[in-house]
Amino acid sequence: MKVQLLAIMPEPEALIARCARVSHRSEGTGPESDRKLIHRLIELGHDSVLEHAVATFEITGISRACANQLTRHRLANFVQESQRYVDVRDRTLVRPPSFSEDDWKKASRLCADAITLYEHLVARGVPKEDARFVVPIGAETQLVLTANFRELRHILRLRLTRSAQWEIRELARQMLRILLEHAPSVFGDLGGTP
Ligand SMILES: Cc1cc2nc3c(=O)[nH]c(=O)nc-3n(C[C@H](O)[C@H](O)[C@H](O)COP(=O)(O)OP(=O)(O)OC[C@H]3O[C@@H](n4cnc5c(N)ncnc54)[C@H](O)[C@@H]3O)c2cc1C
Repeated sequence: MKVQLLAIMPEPEALIARCARVSHRSEGTGPESDRKLIHRLIELGHDSVLEHAVATFEITGISRACANQLTRHRLANFVQESQRYVDVRDRTLVRPPSFSEDDWKKASRLCADAITLYEHLVARGVPKEDARFVVPIGAETQLVLTANFRELRHILRLRLTRSAQWEIRELARQMLRILLEHAPSVFGDLGGTP
């Protein structure tokens, strides 16, 4: 899995604080006062101000199973690699940590057989959108996610918990690591992954 930040609003904490100050016409006095203000906003649940800052991630090497969960987040925007148009014969399987070596050998064999069948179908003239039906849900995919900070906090809160599936939890950890570099006041309270 690889998570890369494609874009983020410049100085997102200063921007959020500036937006928040519009509501009570106060003046900011620098990053420390911005941080305090952002903590207060989050404490009070005045989360809508966080919507003014946005980030875009490119995510590669996650399974379709993981992507299916991620794309349930309706307030985020996605572009996902299309199995209708892209030839997916070079896609590898994501290995779940619970698989033993033996499980993994069997799963890899099954995936190789599925890809052979995929190639055979495409060669016979079956459209890729139909041939993809034999590709396993554990096969790698890639997507781009754009979301505002309020939605990113929501996604991370849900997906960092122990009850979330291991792969999306790892994805959330990687996203959080990146976001903490850019906006620690906004995402800092999510750091203590249980
Ligand atoms: C541990 C875990 C287990 C899960 N298990 C299952 C499962 O078994 N089956 C399954 O189908 N899904 C499952 N899900 C997915 C879950 O039901 C949600 O679809 C997913 O987490 C997206 O959450 P959301 O709707 O809060 O977020 P988003 O779609 O990101 O929306 C963010 C917030 O915006 C608001 N919002 C968005 N759209 C609306 C709307 N139309 N009306 C009102 N408010 C709205 C809500 O406050 C929402 O929380 C699971 C999720 C988790 C984290």
